[in-house]
Amino acid sequence: MAIEKTLYQIESLLVVDDSTVQREHTVGLMRDMGVDLIYEAGNGHEALELLAMLKLPPSLAIIDLEMPGMDGVELIQQLQQSQATFPLIVASSRETSLLSSVETMIQALGMRVLGALQKPLNREKIVAAMKSFDVAASTPQKNDSLPSICESELAAAMRNGELTAYYQPKVDMRTGMLKGVEALARWIHPTMGFIPPDRFIPLAEQGGLIHELTLNMLAKAMAQAALWNERGLPLKVAVNLSPLSLDMPDFVQKMSDLLAQHALLADQIVLEITESSVVANLGSALGTLARLRLKGFGLSIDDYGTGFSSMQQLARIPFTELKIDRSFVHGAHQRQNLRVILQSALDMARRLELVTVAEGVETMEDWRLLQESGCLLGQGYLIAKPMDAKDFPIWLKGHHRRLPELRMPVSHDK
Ligand code: C2E
Ligand code: CA
Ligand code: CA
Repeated sequence: MAIEKTLYQIESLLVVDDSTVQREHTVGLMRDMGVDLIYEAGNGHEALELLAMLKLPPSLAIIDLEMPGMDGVELIQQLQQSQATFPLIVASSRETSLLSSVETMIQALGMRVLGALQKPLNREKIVAAMKSFDVAASTPQKNDSLPSICESELAAAMRNGELTAYYQPKVDMRTGMLKGVEALARWIHPTMGFIPPDRFIPLAEQGGLIHELTLNMLAKAMAQAALWNERGLPLKVAVNLSPLSLDMPDFVQKMSDLLAQHALLADQIVLEITESSVVANLGSALGTLARLRLKGFGLSIDDYGTGFSSMQQLARIPFTELKIDRSFVHGAHQRQNLRVILQSALDMARRLELVTVAEGVETMEDWRLLQESGCLLGQGYLIAKPMDAKDFPIWLKGHHRRLPELRMPVSHDK
């Protein structure tokens, strides 16, 4: 029902389609979903004229790709040039690879795209796309009122213990059994509430607080790992490193000290590092990574697929794990080009003897596709959202009841 509520918050919508029948179909669907104010345009020129007359931009536009005169792609390019900020959904009856490339184009233009949907449109497809509709992001007036945070506040928060670690499970894709967790930083501000890491990690990186934050997260995650060990739950614990962490003075020594302090073995700790951050500082990063690996720490390539490094480059770095970015995972079952990338990343990781992890597993369809593709570990909202360690036992109980459903189906063809 949360989605229904979100749809009601679309204050106005623009539908651009040259076919009257299809346009009316879309308008009808959106009206049924509670959107009252809907503007219609029969082609790109009409859309631009209409937008020029509107006092407030629409909250969202649904744009057909094939239109006479100005097609959907050209319209989107023009929208970008006129600095439109509202999110888009594109729709077409053409092949999914064409839809995907338009979706990528929109992202590359720096605009927000909620989905590239194959026609005929229906309620399910729109609801799925609307999941990423973020009211705050599409209403600029409200966005301005987001309180700004500064470095000194972050420093104080770190001292006051407002920064905590949440943990998201990583599970075995064949059985669903819990194998490890990823620690994710959370700032619980006394008045502003929950501040996501995407807002304060960059601040920490700019303000020179990132080393302290990273060491703080490592200490928390290791203390938690030791506690779980005591309770008979020996989980691998992954911690995210900033690209700057690899330049931290004495980082390897600090890691060894932390391990000793918590009486842990290095192979229980995995360090997640984005591919682009390593490739950007290959010279300095390689030495640190090699030493961490010699000590026995696991090293994971995070967000794989979003950078531009070649596998040849990555094969020279002593990684133990490859984490495929969620943009290649969620929804791959209905997009062939994503599936091809996913499959080739998994094949390559297997040849390099890397543990494969898929992040962003949101649905049972995502889960089954990854099982068929032979991915080893999965992480995502389907299994659990990141949570406070104290909520882990309850989650684990519920999760055990789900294991029969998650287990790899027995193949009958052999
Ligand atoms: P990441 O390393 O890629 O972490 C995964 C992010 O995906 C997390 O967001 C997680 O909550 C989210 N996620 C997990 N499952 C799903 C799913 O099924 N669907 C979707 N849509 N999202 C899912 P979060 O916690 O907001 O963290 C965002 C980013 O902030 C992280 O991306 C990481 O790059 C950074 N970050 C978080 N904690 C730390 C930290 O302690 N140190 C550093 N340097 N970076 C951190
Ligand atoms: Ca990560
Ligand atoms: Ca990631």
